[in-house]
Amino acid sequence: MQFIFLGPPGAGKGTQASLLAARWQVPHISTGDILRAAIAGKTSLGIQARTHVEAGELVPDILIMALIRERFEAADMKQGWILDGFPRTLAQAQALDELLTRFRQPHPQAIYFDVSTENLVTRMLGRGRQDDTAATIRRRLEIYQADTTPLIDFYEQRECLTKIDGNRSPEAVTQSLQASLLTHQSSRLALV
Ligand code: AMP
Repeated sequence: MQFIFLGPPGAGKGTQASLLAARWQVPHISTGDILRAAIAGKTSLGIQARTHVEAGELVPDILIMALIRERFEAADMKQGWILDGFPRTLAQAQALDELLTRFRQPHPQAIYFDVSTENLVTRMLGRGRQDDTAATIRRRLEIYQADTTPLIDFYEQRECLTKIDGNRSPEAVTQSLQASLLTHQSSRLALV
């Protein structure tokens, strides 16, 4: 049960990840949540990440990889996990590959949440988060296009990408995710 939730900001990844992580009893790792907590707690990571997050820019890969490596050391990661908002760059995806090989978890399934730009903007403006101003939303969408969309191809080429229509209601999206989990599990079993 190793899932990478991929998609633009405002796609509903966080909502679905927390729901399914509770249902499947696996950790939900949101790099955005970890960074926001670090910023609020004024930790060394928070101090280094703050200006990037507030501007809607990506936090440098080196900081993100340090926090992910540390999180993967925890015992609760052995039974599976959902990664939400990570990886976001090709460098992060490659570093994650190395990490997963080291932890003998080399077969993650990537779920791509496809949502129209119009819906994304409406959702982000509606959630009222501090970094959800019109200017940062525009910037985050530009960065998503430039740095994160190449990951769709990256995981598609390995035939481990499932595309979900994220324009629908949260309940409909959850149902599709549950169905794709079953398909994923049965195809893995078929390989054994
Ligand atoms: P999110 O909650 O996933 O939308 O993330 C909020 C902000 O945290 C982003 O706009 C970035 O500034 C930063 N962030 C979260 N995850 C990453 C990541 N994997 N790589 C770089 N920056 C990130």
